[in-house]
Amino acid sequence: MVARQSAWESAQIQLAEAVKHLGLDDGTHQLLATPRREMTVSIPLRRDDGHVEVLRGYRVQHNLSRGPAKGGIRYHPSTDIDEVRALAMWMTWKCALIGIPYGGAKGGVTIDPRLYSRNELERVTRRYASEIGPIVGPEKDIPAPDVGTDDQTMAWFMDTYSVNKGYTVTGVVTGKPVSVGGSQGRGGATSRGVMYSAFAALREAGISPREVSVAVQGFGKVGGLAAQYLHDAGCKVVAVSDVKGGAYNAMGLNPAAMLRAIKSGMESVAGYPGTDPISNEELIELDVDILVPAALEGVIHDGNADAVKARFIVEGANGPTTPDADAILESRGAIVVPDILANSGGVAVSYFEWVQDLQAYWWTEDEVNDRLRAIMDKAYDEVSTLAREQGVSLRTAAQMIGVGRVAEAHRTRGLYP
Ligand code: GLU
Repeated sequence: MVARQSAWESAQIQLAEAVKHLGLDDGTHQLLATPRREMTVSIPLRRDDGHVEVLRGYRVQHNLSRGPAKGGIRYHPSTDIDEVRALAMWMTWKCALIGIPYGGAKGGVTIDPRLYSRNELERVTRRYASEIGPIVGPEKDIPAPDVGTDDQTMAWFMDTYSVNKGYTVTGVVTGKPVSVGGSQGRGGATSRGVMYSAFAALREAGISPREVSVAVQGFGKVGGLAAQYLHDAGCKVVAVSDVKGGAYNAMGLNPAAMLRAIKSGMESVAGYPGTDPISNEELIELDVDILVPAALEGVIHDGNADAVKARFIVEGANGPTTPDADAILESRGAIVVPDILANSGGVAVSYFEWVQDLQAYWWTEDEVNDRLRAIMDKAYDEVSTLAREQGVSLRTAAQMIGVGRVAEAHRTRGLYP
C-alpha cells in the first residue's frame, strides 16, 4: 500500500499550490514553508501510584508576521512534531483568512488523556505550561483547546502561567471557563462556525437546510455541538460517531439527547438506543448531502475518496482531507468547505476572548455570536468570489487569501537585517 499523505506533507502541498497561483518567489515560499520557532520539552510526570514517567511536548510558532502566534494544544497519542508543524501552519492561514491579527502556532503533548486521571492531567498541563512559559504570553503566543484538551486544561494553564508571573494574566490562553476570563459563546463557537459555513455553501447552491441529510464524524467539542446546531436548524442528522464507533438512523437522530447522555456518563454514541451501529469508515462513505469530518486529519484519503457520496464536505477538523483526496472529490464535483474556513469560528471567538481579557470588559453572548457570524460570512464570500474568479477550489482560494495576506505582511515589514 502506498503511504497516505501525512498532515505535514498535505500542508506543504497546499502551500505550494497557493504559492503557484499567487506567483510568489522562491524565497518567500521557503520562508512560509518553514516554522519560525519550535520548542520541544520533556514533561516528567509523577503518576498517581508514585512512579515517574517522562512525556514529550511541543510548541511550534509557524509565523508571527501579522501578530502574536495563536493556536490550540493537543493531547493525543499520535501527536508528534510534524503533526504540530502542520497544525501550526494551518493556524497561520486561518487567522489571516478571517482577518484576525495573529500568526499561527500549535502545541501538543504525546499522551492518551483517556488513560490518565484528572490529577495526572493537571500535573502534565502545569509542567507543560511552565516549560513553554518563556515563549507564550498575551503579546507572544496564545494557546487554546484542541483535540484532547478543554476549558479546564486552559484554566490550569492560565493559573500556572499567572502564578509563575506573580499576577493573573487571563489573556495568556483562550477557551477558558467564563468564571476565569473566558468568553460567552466560545464553547460552541467552532461548531456554530461549521453550521454558518455549511449554510453559506447551501445558499450558494440554492438548497434549504431543511432538505439536507448530514453525517458527522467525531462527537467531541466540535462535532457534537455541530450535529446539535445543524439538527436544531432543520437538517436531518442521520449518523454521528466517536473513536469507539458510530450510530445511524435513516429517520434522523436527536444529537442533543445523545450529548446529554454522554455528559451523564455514556461512553460512546455506538449502541445508542434506537440506532444501528456504523463504523467510522462506513460513516465517511454514507449517502448523505453533507459530511462533516470533525475528528482528526487524513480521514478522507486516496483510498476512500472515490467512495465518498456527500455533495458537501464541511471540514470541522483540521486537515481531514488529503490533497490526493481533494483532487478526487473535485473531479466528482463535490464541494469541500476547507478547514481554515469551516472551523475558523473557534479561533474567531478566541480572538474576541483575548480582546475582552485585554480590556477587562465583557460582551454578551448575542454580541459574540453576531460578530462571529459577520466574520464567517465575510470570509466565506471572499473565498467563494475568488474561487469563481480564478476557477479554483474553495480550498485553493482560501489558502491563496491566507497565504497572500501573510506574504504581504512580510513584504511590507521587510527582511531584518
Ligand atoms: N484549536 C482550534 C483550531 O484549530 C482553536 C485555536 C484557537 O482558538 O486558538 O482552530
